[in-house]
Amino acid sequence: MAGWNPWHGCRRISEGCRNCYVYRIDARHGRDASVVFKTGEFDLPLRKKRDGSFHIPPGETVFTCFSSDFFLDLADSWRPEAWAMIRSRPDLRFVMMTKRIDRFFTGLPDDWGDGWDNVTIGCTCENQAMADKRLPIFRAAPIKHKLIAAEPLLGPMDLSDQLGPWVEAVMPGGESGPEARVCNFDWVLSLRRQCLSAGVAFEYHQTGAKLIKDGRLYRIPRKYQHAQARKAALNLPGAGAAVLPEQEDPDPEEDE
Ligand code: SF4
Repeated sequence: MAGWNPWHGCRRISEGCRNCYVYRIDARHGRDASVVFKTGEFDLPLRKKRDGSFHIPPGETVFTCFSSDFFLDLADSWRPEAWAMIRSRPDLRFVMMTKRIDRFFTGLPDDWGDGWDNVTIGCTCENQAMADKRLPIFRAAPIKHKLIAAEPLLGPMDLSDQLGPWVEAVMPGGESGPEARVCNFDWVLSLRRQCLSAGVAFEYHQTGAKLIKDGRLYRIPRKYQHAQARKAALNLPGAGAAVLPEQEDPDPEEDE
């Protein structure tokens, strides 16, 4: 598993962004995450070691742009080069999450066709309104591997008329951080039932910091949020399951 952040920083776009971990971590370091810049690892997929081998070895899953949004408008001038690097490494699997699926076509390479085998895109929908807005666009987009990230899950979600073989997995999760909003376990169970009935893989990614279960509020420290979700044993296997890293937002001071 490798990480590649070709640019850093982002702009909030919907409710799910309110407690964005990029802003939280940057603020702690005296930085403003709304300032978007090309990082020093921009060309990481192409970098080689002295022996001529790639820094990111063949076969790796590369979590791409987890400190920004790959389709951010402020990155429009950098994205074509990023796509070119992705094209040049068919031996890697690039996974990216976006809240801007409506911008998917901006700067898309001419030879994209029906999508590239080495690219998995997750559309993030934190509530019903965003699911209703983003999923029809996502469903129609020519992408070979699609995931739905229902994270941070902020309310009940009915995806029953959306789910089908076009999506490889649905991955709900609660919100983390000191300002986290609650996630109700019933919302997670409902999404699981919908996946079961549609034959779509399901992966309960993390509980979040505040979980309501059977009417009781549980506060869960960061280090246990993924393990507690796993312990619930809700996952339904399938092609897209087990794709996300546990610590895509490493924040050791989060519980302080
Ligand atoms: S799109 Fe993602 S990275 Fe950008 S502000 Fe929203 S939560 Fe943060």
